[in-house]
Amino acid sequence: MSRIVLASSNPGKLKEFGALLADSGLEVIAQGSLGIEDAEETGLTFVENALLKARHAAQASGLPALADDSGLCVDHLHGAPGLYSARYSGGHGDAAANNAKLLRELDGVPAEQRGAFFICVLVLLQHADDPSPLIAEARWHGHILPEGRGSGGFGYNPVFLPTGYSQSVAEMDDTLKKKLSHRGQALVLLHERLRELRHA
Ligand code: IMP
Repeated sequence: MSRIVLASSNPGKLKEFGALLADSGLEVIAQGSLGIEDAEETGLTFVENALLKARHAAQASGLPALADDSGLCVDHLHGAPGLYSARYSGGHGDAAANNAKLLRELDGVPAEQRGAFFICVLVLLQHADDPSPLIAEARWHGHILPEGRGSGGFGYNPVFLPTGYSQSVAEMDDTLKKKLSHRGQALVLLHERLRELRHA
């Protein structure tokens, strides 16, 4: 089985990626277990940041590397919080404060102007100088609710109402969320690309 490094120290992501890539013949190893620190995310787009993270992990490990970058983009806010989704309110990963800030920014904005999407970009580099990365991107469209609902998952889940559903993401069960989500869909795409390459 070939080994690839996951350019993330998030145990939840390791589990999710490991399970979804298991039948692709890849063993996913967290960069932290090899003593690799997080890369600096200096890009101006999700794809640039995912590439930076994957290149950093590939360089430090000498192995192929997989990285993801994700966030929430709100139409009325010209794509904010975007790249800064995790630290929109200042502190990194303070979901309650991030959600409160988002709801404040959208205070009084009518439902039809509260469109938003989650985005996930995955990048797989065979090595640090790989000029042809595999890139998979998926978006999950919906609306920002007037107030948060539910407590499942993390981040902006309570305030995001996916198109075609009456539950916020925080009210959905895990299986449904994984199937519909930007991350789940991007992984399906990456998986397909890997299969195509193996049979090319
Ligand atoms: P990262 O890709 O782990 O850096 O995630 C960026 C940030 O985007 C997270 O900290 C969350 O605030 C937000 N985010 C990304 N995906 C989701 C999701 O599936 N649900 C809720 N928030 C998310």
